[in-house]
Amino acid sequence: MRWARFEHEGSVKLGKVEDGRIQPVAAQSMQEVIRGEGTEAAEDPVAVEEVRTLSPLRPDKIVAVGQNYMDHIREQGNEPPGIPVLFPKFPTNVIGPEEEIRWPKNLTQQVDYEAELAVIIGEGGRCLREEDALEAVFGYTAANDVTARDLQFAEGGQWTRGKAIDTFLPLGPTVVSREEILDPQALPIVCRVNGETLQDSNTKEMVFTVAELVAFVSQSVMLEPGDVILTGTPHGVGVFRDPQVFLQPGDKVEVEVGDFGVLSNPVGKYL
Ligand code: MG
Repeated sequence: MRWARFEHEGSVKLGKVEDGRIQPVAAQSMQEVIRGEGTEAAEDPVAVEEVRTLSPLRPDKIVAVGQNYMDHIREQGNEPPGIPVLFPKFPTNVIGPEEEIRWPKNLTQQVDYEAELAVIIGEGGRCLREEDALEAVFGYTAANDVTARDLQFAEGGQWTRGKAIDTFLPLGPTVVSREEILDPQALPIVCRVNGETLQDSNTKEMVFTVAELVAFVSQSVMLEPGDVILTGTPHGVGVFRDPQVFLQPGDKVEVEVGDFGVLSNPVGKYL
């Protein structure tokens, strides 16, 4: 099953996506869908081209993981961490497909892209065992963990300041349910900037698997329906390229994970 939040004829709706059409349902939020509420058909299906796809949800918690792809660790000359490296992003950071990534001009001069697999928590829980962790997951979507590198690396490291910036978390376009993803460690993951492929890897490169990450995060926070875990980015980010690549107004960034659909965002004018 695939789900999307979208705008059609002036109202925001949730729906099931199938064969190029969206079946609107009664639920008003992805969290309701995750809880199994309002999933019955509410009106006639519409063609996907007739709607504007929005970010699938506004999560309460967003826990992101750094240094989690072996190819990304190698490009930095680092050793893999012994336990997952966690940092937060915030609900106001989230934007949907085709919304602009923007920032105050004086805040940062080094804005970078990070293609990521996003895990959408379902039932959730606390202190989950690794063998039970995937059952606590509702589904998956694509994410871009946009990052201000100059802020991230300044003053000995300011990950929250460099990453938890409004508009710096595009999510979408659809949420693919867990049942459709037989192995979350076998998904191609790609990022293109202005049509050029700059990241091209696979979730098999993850140091800690999705199940390990969900279990690890649940040791310190209660995972609730609709919470999001960002699982890290593969090699090819702009800051470690030669020459370096940083996003500029007018650029277009596209993230693709598996066959989830393209998460495309323009880089807008500075705020
Ligand atoms: Mg990241």
